[in-house]
Amino acid sequence: MSFYAGIDFGTSGARLAVIDADAHLCAQASRTFDTVAESDLVACWQATLFSLLKEIDRAERQTLRAIAINGTSSTVLLCDGVGQPLTVPLLYNDASGAPERETLRHLFAQERYANAPCQHTVLSATSSLVKLLWWSRQAVFSQARYLLHQADWLGFLLHGQPGISDYHNSLKLGYDVVHLRYPDWLTELAIAPLLPHVVAPGTSIGHVQPAVARQLELPFDCQICAGTTDSIAAFLASRATVPGEAVTSLGSTLVLKLLSQTRVENNTYGIYSHRLGKQWLVGGASNTGGAVLQQFFTVAELLHLSDRIITDQASPLDYYPLTQAGERFPVNDPSLLPRLEPRPADPVAFLHGLLESMARIEAEGYRLLQALGATPLKRVYSAGGGATNAAWTALRARQLGVPVERSQQLEAAYGTALLALGMHRQHKH
Ligand code: ADP
Repeated sequence: MSFYAGIDFGTSGARLAVIDADAHLCAQASRTFDTVAESDLVACWQATLFSLLKEIDRAERQTLRAIAINGTSSTVLLCDGVGQPLTVPLLYNDASGAPERETLRHLFAQERYANAPCQHTVLSATSSLVKLLWWSRQAVFSQARYLLHQADWLGFLLHGQPGISDYHNSLKLGYDVVHLRYPDWLTELAIAPLLPHVVAPGTSIGHVQPAVARQLELPFDCQICAGTTDSIAAFLASRATVPGEAVTSLGSTLVLKLLSQTRVENNTYGIYSHRLGKQWLVGGASNTGGAVLQQFFTVAELLHLSDRIITDQASPLDYYPLTQAGERFPVNDPSLLPRLEPRPADPVAFLHGLLESMARIEAEGYRLLQALGATPLKRVYSAGGGATNAAWTALRARQLGVPVERSQQLEAAYGTALLALGMHRQHKH
């Protein structure tokens, strides 16, 4: 038997999934990070990685063919020439680098960079590139040799070659996923020598280092693959591989990801595309979602009230459920107010109105992605806390007009194990 491992590193913990050559899930494990000081964080990641791998049943571990790791997008660290961290990591939501956006805007305004997108994803306050520019003004920078994402660095611990990343993690570093190279405006910056070499997610980078193989009792030819980001790994877990298939994540917010033959970028609505082989993963995120439901109902109430909704009747209530003012997708209005009136006395009718309105916003979201050029929607898989709600699923199927199914596998670690197995190659066809 051959086995493949995927490891999902989040902000609060890490999960492992082991699959066989038929992509059947064989084992799972998880660890939460103890609350550690910032300065101990990378040591904690390293210990977690090794302890999760040691947890794999010995027989499976000794026949492990490949390992891939996903990390939190835009969580980065600076390393020296042998991959030793020189700084504490800057986490995904760290906006220290935000003032550096001015440097980039200034650069993009120059005539010779007329082709640089004036609303590039690197211009977000937390992008990997603004973090790197911020570091370039700190004393430590003179010793730095590589910028690595969380997944890159953890992969490095296994394969031993510093300075390698994948094009999912590197999107927010400015890597050009259309031409598969760093753009000229980026390679001309003083930070350019620190940019990692970028390969396709799932590419084998090399064998596990012999010392690590001995320590973990892994085969010496176990492949260590380039990783991905947490949200793409969660998409891969759904097994959606056909253009037109999508995954809606019904968590605190509503996140849409549609597999498309065409790439869509639109800054007005915050839409951007990740490359998946020869296809594109077009995404948009709305501020509506489960967080609004939580303001009004407990999970137990959601369960028993949802059961009483007559789902083939559309609710006449036209809400825009938000926890606070402001929306970007599918309506771009930073001052849009939550619309939750009129509120009927019957809680079933109120919940029906909320779920129906969110289903309408979801359908509007997919219509917008298609209007901007994405492949027409064929099927939607559901993930996140709301995916278990059968009444909501029925309302959504009616609004979306396509089959809506629950993802069989929801774990990002499973998606990353598929990457190790090489299932991502399906997206190339
Ligand atoms: P996140 O990771 O974004 O915080 P989760 O995927 O864990 O979110 O989902 C949590 C959300 O799911 C909560 O906001 C909650 O309102 C919603 N939720 C949980 N159970 C149900 C249910 N039965 N019906 C609808 N929504 C639910």
